[in-house]
Amino acid sequence: MTEFGRAQNRNAPRNAATRATSASVRARASSWIDDTQGFIVDLDGTLVRGNYVIAGAVELLERIKDRYVILSNNSTDTAFGLATTLRKLGLRVEADRLILAGEHAIRFMAEHHAQARLKVIASPAIRKFAERQGLRLVDRDADFVVLGRDRRFNYAKLNEIVNELHRGASLVVTNPDLSHPAEDGGLIPETGALMTAVTACAGIQPDRVVGKPEDTLFLEALKRLGTRPSDTLVIGDNPATDAIGAVRLGMRYLLVGTTPYADATSPKGLLSSPCLGHAQVPFASPVARSWSDSLDDSVRTA
Ligand SMILES: [Mg+2]
Repeated sequence: MTEFGRAQNRNAPRNAATRATSASVRARASSWIDDTQGFIVDLDGTLVRGNYVIAGAVELLERIKDRYVILSNNSTDTAFGLATTLRKLGLRVEADRLILAGEHAIRFMAEHHAQARLKVIASPAIRKFAERQGLRLVDRDADFVVLGRDRRFNYAKLNEIVNELHRGASLVVTNPDLSHPAEDGGLIPETGALMTAVTACAGIQPDRVVGKPEDTLFLEALKRLGTRPSDTLVIGDNPATDAIGAVRLGMRYLLVGTTPYADATSPKGLLSSPCLGHAQVPFASPVARSWSDSLDDSVRTA
């Protein structure tokens, strides 16, 4: 469906003709749910915002039961801790359905660099998780600096990190987001903001970014679902991470929220959407346009 087609669907008047075809629309609306084998669902802005569950989120997960994972650039919590928090909000999600950037960055290091010396700058929960994985956490002479959202980040830590990198350590960043929305409409600084300070000072780029829109988390999601990209649909709210990450790997996507590219404002609206998902990135989006070169590269090498 084109962008125009999507806008027309969202804004279609509730006239007699529309009502007359409501039965067929409902039949088609169920097809994106029934005809898709696996769903990769974003969390913040898609299912929850701050401390409340977005309209239709519970119903959506009920409809796609046993066929979804939740993929989030969250680098603060472990899956177990976040599942507990979500349950208190009214969203029942098993921990093994949550794939989180911070936790997965640690899993990635445990799998691929088990003997390495790691300087982990992240939340206490993520540092503890790294210790439980048996990784070697050090203050200096690290092989890798793993950078996540550390709410106690300060000048001293910046000084330590850039000198580790200057000495030759590699930089692994959990997620590239600069901020995420606060419940009151403000901004909460994210890992990408810390990364920007580090890379500006050290004059290097990260060796790996784990979170969306990069491939690492999406590939883990496909592995857990056991589905092929062509049978998998991404549901998110961010064209620059959810849509581009999906298209890079050959998956379709649907967006919720208030951007001009959204298929519905909430999961509740998405449940009655006739759209089967999009295979193209909304290149008109200024935020998405900045990723178009890397997307072209990935398409060429796919
Ligand atoms: Mg989101």
